[in-house]
Amino acid sequence: NQGIGSWPARRARMTPDRVALSFQGRDRTYGELRERAYRLASALAAELGVRRGDRVAYLGPNEPALVETFFAAGLLGAVFVPLNTRLAAPELRFVLEDAAPAALLLGTGRDGDGLPGRHVAAEAYEDLLAAGSAAPIDEPVSRDDVCLIMYTSGTTGRPKGAMLTHGNLTWNAVNLLVDVPLGPDEVTLVSAPLFHIAALAQTLVPTVLKGGRCVLEPSFDVERTFELVERERVTVMFGVPSMFGMLTRSPRWAGADLSSLRHLLCGGAPVPLPLIRAYQERGLTFLQGYGMTETAPGALFLAAEHSVDKAGSAGVPCFFSDVRLVAPDGSPAAPGEPGEVYVQGPNVMPGYWRRPEESAEVLDADGWFRSGDVGIADEDGYVRISDRIKDVIISGGENIYPAEVESVLYGHPAVAECAVIGVPDERWGEVGKALVVPRPGAAAEPGDLLRHLDGRLARYKIPKYLQIVPELPKNAAGKLLKAPLRKMYG
Ligand code: AMP
Ligand code: MG
Repeated sequence: NQGIGSWPARRARMTPDRVALSFQGRDRTYGELRERAYRLASALAAELGVRRGDRVAYLGPNEPALVETFFAAGLLGAVFVPLNTRLAAPELRFVLEDAAPAALLLGTGRDGDGLPGRHVAAEAYEDLLAAGSAAPIDEPVSRDDVCLIMYTSGTTGRPKGAMLTHGNLTWNAVNLLVDVPLGPDEVTLVSAPLFHIAALAQTLVPTVLKGGRCVLEPSFDVERTFELVERERVTVMFGVPSMFGMLTRSPRWAGADLSSLRHLLCGGAPVPLPLIRAYQERGLTFLQGYGMTETAPGALFLAAEHSVDKAGSAGVPCFFSDVRLVAPDGSPAAPGEPGEVYVQGPNVMPGYWRRPEESAEVLDADGWFRSGDVGIADEDGYVRISDRIKDVIISGGENIYPAEVESVLYGHPAVAECAVIGVPDERWGEVGKALVVPRPGAAAEPGDLLRHLDGRLARYKIPKYLQIVPELPKNAAGKLLKAPLRKMYG
């Protein structure tokens, strides 16, 4: 097994007694992680019929069972599908019908009411494991096999699953380790959600590769972060800018002991300069990166030694990856000129799950992936992400696709036309604002319209603002023009 499912066993071969996971005061060694991954994998195969290529979904917070399911699926050559716990029931149903997993494991605090497929309740998890065998499993798994499907919504409003191979995640970890010297004494705080690529691929996977310890937290919490950094002597942490921003606004910020922190990985959204400065004042520099789910995720990386002189830039391509900037006419963008960011390399996904057309739209024959982001390179090749072509709002690291929100709004009888735009927000980076043209004679109440979204969309996708407007700007062909809309109402 050349895949990541074999990593607990490979690690346990070298350092079986080192702690792999700490969770709510309990430690689990690499030896224990290996055994539990074998038990779970054999039980998934025997009790639930999971075979090579089958999907195994997990719905729950960051916890050991999620990590064990990831490795156990990999041992069988099955595909791990972590689900975003913030999605509303209809959104989860769509994703589950698309992924059609052989089993859905429910984590702490989740029930499977109304969700399709075979479920394993959180309370049944330990029994399932106990039913499994601890004997080694050695299925033939190659690095080109799909390891993971992560759902990201699309400009069409329909979520699609980015397939990532064992090789994609392995190379991403190597790309990271080229620049960030993680070691076996690392204590990595894993509090960003593992159903997003950054926490999984930038913290869990490289830490396991190096035999360090992951401190798992069910979710990000400001007070707990300070507490854990001090108590566990955390050395590595990943966060989106809004997480790092919340820490600076806490009353504990000024007095917190942050002396154990060595590597602060920050990305997923533009990193504001005042945030960089606030950490610099505490002697802490961010390792900034740019990437996306489809590139597992690292594409650009800014080394610590350039975090000041190149502040605001997302860096240069990761060691084994390539990035080019393409001008609107298809030629290479010159330094100082904007161009769409394309990424190539061993970390780039093979495509979207069962979506050949959407895959072909973003991947060309040479494996160049079109990001939909705009970048500007300086004379030294450092790329600043300056804009987005794709219509997405990034709010606290979560992506909101206006098309998805608009299509649910259109389901309300009082809505004649609507559009959702992103507006700046100090806390979340951006938030959504909906503009609604009511049907003639219909009573369109903003509160009523927002309630219509409740339960149909994840809460983070529900616009923070909703304004009733007389009309929306369109071009001669009747196509909605978002740029003037942003000028008028942004
Ligand atoms: P996701 O689909 O959640 O993986 O989000 C990927 C998107 O987040 C990218 O396509 C960018 O639009 C945005 N993004 C990620 N990192 C950065 C960064 N360092 N600066 C600006 N935008 C970023
Ligand atoms: Mg994101």
